[in-house]
Amino acid sequence: MKYANRMKNLHASEIRELLKITERPDIISFAGGLPAAELFPIEEMAAVSATVLKEHGEKALQYSTTEGFQPLRKWIAERENQRIKTKLTEENLLITHGSQQALDLVGKLLINKGDVILCESPTYLSALNVFKTFEGQVLEVQTDQDGMIVSDLERLLKETPNVKLLYVIPTFQNPSGKTWSLERKKQILAVANRYDVAIVEDAPYEELRYSGEFTLPMFSFPESKNVIRTGSFSKILCPGLRLGWIAADVEVIEKLVLIKQSTDLQCNTFTQMQIVQFVQENDLDAHIARLIQAYRSRRDAAISAIKKYFPENTHYTRPEGGLFIWLELPEPLNTTALLEKSLERNVAFVSGESFYAEHPRYNTMRLNFSCMNEENIEIGFKILGELVHEELAK
Ligand code: PMP
Repeated sequence: MKYANRMKNLHASEIRELLKITERPDIISFAGGLPAAELFPIEEMAAVSATVLKEHGEKALQYSTTEGFQPLRKWIAERENQRIKTKLTEENLLITHGSQQALDLVGKLLINKGDVILCESPTYLSALNVFKTFEGQVLEVQTDQDGMIVSDLERLLKETPNVKLLYVIPTFQNPSGKTWSLERKKQILAVANRYDVAIVEDAPYEELRYSGEFTLPMFSFPESKNVIRTGSFSKILCPGLRLGWIAADVEVIEKLVLIKQSTDLQCNTFTQMQIVQFVQENDLDAHIARLIQAYRSRRDAAISAIKKYFPENTHYTRPEGGLFIWLELPEPLNTTALLEKSLERNVAFVSGESFYAEHPRYNTMRLNFSCMNEENIEIGFKILGELVHEELAK
């Protein structure tokens, strides 16, 4: 088969491969970014599915518009306007198959072969793969505890002529768990505007906050004309529904609609109607509050287990929300080698190297804390901590 050139840049993701192993019931997994399945509102979903089919069956099983089900777009617009102080209407929204498809559509919209995309170091692996699919070149911007470092971004923008896009996850970042300060968001937006570079602000975790203060996303600032925002039902409801959205200027949405039309015509009509029925019959905020309560307790268990079992000179983030803790272990420890050993002891995590666009750091790892209960977090982190001590003692 004569494959397209873009296939040269694509390799099987370590995480996808790992997820196959972690489906084994005997594995304690901190690997995937999985929400806690026991908290899915299964009975409520069963009830709303029955109602949608009974009352609107013909519509639910029929083709529908590319933009997405109008009542769902309207509901998202109103909810976002309240939460993040925007003035969206449904015209500003396109429904997508998760925020992953949102990234793919934005890639098709913006990236020519050889265009440069700047992202945080480290960043979300599957976004890197999207950018590679469109034969973009991804460069890393250094980060500190407040977000992207402004001077590093300016340096890259000065040195690099063809930067097209800045891809950022300012809240509870995947994989680092970091959250940008408000001041940093203002500064980065100002620099991007000065260089006329679009920003994709990916926000799938934003509603899962366990501590600290909410600050507005860049998309909400008056100067945000070049910001595209991606959102998702995956973490606040269930990822299997595969529904998310893009919020942007009407002109951008109109172009994205053309792209989505040729990609898949539209998202699943039935699923979109299920969500609308779900939010009419149930209190989504109360559901999210339950998730927050459970995840906060798991995050706290994870942090105390790190303190208890890992070497003192381990650096780790204390995420205010989201699903991940990022660890930097004492060098020369290599977490890919460590992973082989931990799998032998039935514990999985993701080594950090795959999250770097350019310069992998081999002593890093990402630990997900949302899908294991406190007891398994204690057992699994103890095993990992012991392995780290053993490796360092060699
Ligand atoms: N963006 C980020 C930062 C993610 O971590 C994920 C998935 N974990 C996605 C996008 C895609 O999620 P989904 O397609 O389920 O909305």
